[in-house]
Amino acid sequence: MKTEKLYYKDSHLQAFEAVVTGCAEVKKGWEITLDATAFYPEGGGQPSDMGILGDGNVLSVREDGEQVIHLCDKPLTVGDTVTGRIDWARRFDLMQQHSGEHMVSGVVHKLYGWHNVGFHMGAELITVDFDGPIPAEDLQKIEDTVNAAIWENLPVKCYYPTEAELPSVPYRRKKDLSWPVRIVEFPGIDICACCGTQVKHTGEIGLVKLFSCAKFHEGVRIEMACGQRALALLSAVYQQNRQVSQAFSAKILETGAAAARTNEALAAEKFRAAGLEKQLYSTIAKNYAGKAVAVHFEDALSPAANRALCDTLAGCCKIAVTLSGSDESGYSLCIVSQAADAKALGAAAVTALGGRGGGRREAFQGNTPATRQEICDFFQSQKII
Ligand SMILES: [Zn+2]
Repeated sequence: MKTEKLYYKDSHLQAFEAVVTGCAEVKKGWEITLDATAFYPEGGGQPSDMGILGDGNVLSVREDGEQVIHLCDKPLTVGDTVTGRIDWARRFDLMQQHSGEHMVSGVVHKLYGWHNVGFHMGAELITVDFDGPIPAEDLQKIEDTVNAAIWENLPVKCYYPTEAELPSVPYRRKKDLSWPVRIVEFPGIDICACCGTQVKHTGEIGLVKLFSCAKFHEGVRIEMACGQRALALLSAVYQQNRQVSQAFSAKILETGAAAARTNEALAAEKFRAAGLEKQLYSTIAKNYAGKAVAVHFEDALSPAANRALCDTLAGCCKIAVTLSGSDESGYSLCIVSQAADAKALGAAAVTALGGRGGGRREAFQGNTPATRQEICDFFQSQKII
């Protein structure tokens, strides 16, 4: 039996009464049909409504021919009159996104002639794909044009042209459609074939924010959000920027420059530290000059710094062994030698002391949980000290 689609008569209808015309048990619950419904089924990129029907929950809604089928978690009795209430917060959000997407697609079509060839509503952002290039610097212009039209609070028209009228309606479509076609018009901005639910006036969208525009297949993919979603995302970004502003002691709109200055200063400090480390390693190496073996412990070196120290020591003795860490945290181990087999010595060390590592004949790097004393004892036992 045909379901009367109340969502097309009034996209803002939140509650309604209807007669149950069918109820069939399925794997995930009960599939219920009504003589009329305000629950929008999935379609045209818009996810289905959810909500309450009778005393059960509507989990999803789909269209099958002329019927709208509600998947519910409780059965209903055929012939009963029941009340349905859609999850309005969810629906209004979806309408804000859907109507906003139409306006952006309409403006892009007017400015560049490109078609919307893909539309996806994610949990946070929605993505819209176009079949041609859009320079990233044009995003602001598109966003400004759409928002100006939103704030004009234009009436949104949804209608079915007669078969005779349809050929003269200049509507966007992915493919030629046969009559009847439902048209959604945002005056001066967009005319498009659409089966989804829309806001009644553009002002309900609130705002549109375009977040990114990246190359996608032959065209671009725009990430955007509308209405309450856009505000929530911008609020989250603002909170992050407030923390960045406090961390850099910078004004809220000058955090980018502050971050760039900090990066420059950090690079200069790294350069200075590398110079100082080089000097330090040369000073340490002097203590081992002329010795066959150097086993040296140094606090808190990164693996890379430990290796640099070991390379420097290896320049003035036959076998250089450097360790950094503590008895509590374990040690990183580095062995460098031009004369002996560093890999064999390293493998023997991590076998005896626990830990792991690897390398080549000239250099070995690894780590061990052993104590300083145990490590010293091991190298003593190798009779190389
Ligand atoms: Zn649509």
